[in-house]
Amino acid sequence: MNTVGVLALQGAFAAHEAALRGLGAHTRQVRTPADLIAVDALVMPGGESTTMSRLLDTSGMYPDLKARIAGGMPVFGTCAGMILLATEVLDGRADQYSFGAIDLAVRRNGYGRQVDSFETDITVSGLAEPFHAVFIRAPKVVTVGPSVEVLAAHDGTPVVARQDHVMVASFHPELTPDARLHEMFLQHNGFTIEKERG
Ligand code: GLN
Repeated sequence: MNTVGVLALQGAFAAHEAALRGLGAHTRQVRTPADLIAVDALVMPGGESTTMSRLLDTSGMYPDLKARIAGGMPVFGTCAGMILLATEVLDGRADQYSFGAIDLAVRRNGYGRQVDSFETDITVSGLAEPFHAVFIRAPKVVTVGPSVEVLAAHDGTPVVARQDHVMVASFHPELTPDARLHEMFLQHNGFTIEKERG
């Protein structure tokens, strides 16, 4: 059976794991290079991208994870996870890593101080009903490359996007009891879904 990893260095990983398990996925928390070898896909949660970047370094995972992503391992990055996957990070720390896995420029904390956290319903292509999106000091997409498919936008700014095996959301889909984006990620990458009944 395929195993879906959840990067568990820091941040909102537990709720992601619960969402994936609710879909019938076999999951594993990823903290070491050995954990990474054991997974077939990876969710990179929200949290603090600069801290996660540092922990990717100290855990020894950065080069392995970079190689796995470049080699086609499906990844779903939310909020800080999206920042780590983007090709360009504005207002980041000079030494923070990004994997350059999806052709987006994102601005850290790009929604500004006045509205640094907010909730709104968005329309996601492929989903019949709106998705309630929780934004917490979210990155704002500034530039979108030609290979990127925008799956949802808020006020004209992309908030869910995909490029091949790499999917990102600038909000926290794990904080609402709605696993449709996790489901979309798994289905797009050929994982079988066996939802809990009842
Ligand atoms: N602002 C955070 C960062 O720069 C991301 C916030 C989040 O993941 N909720 O990493």
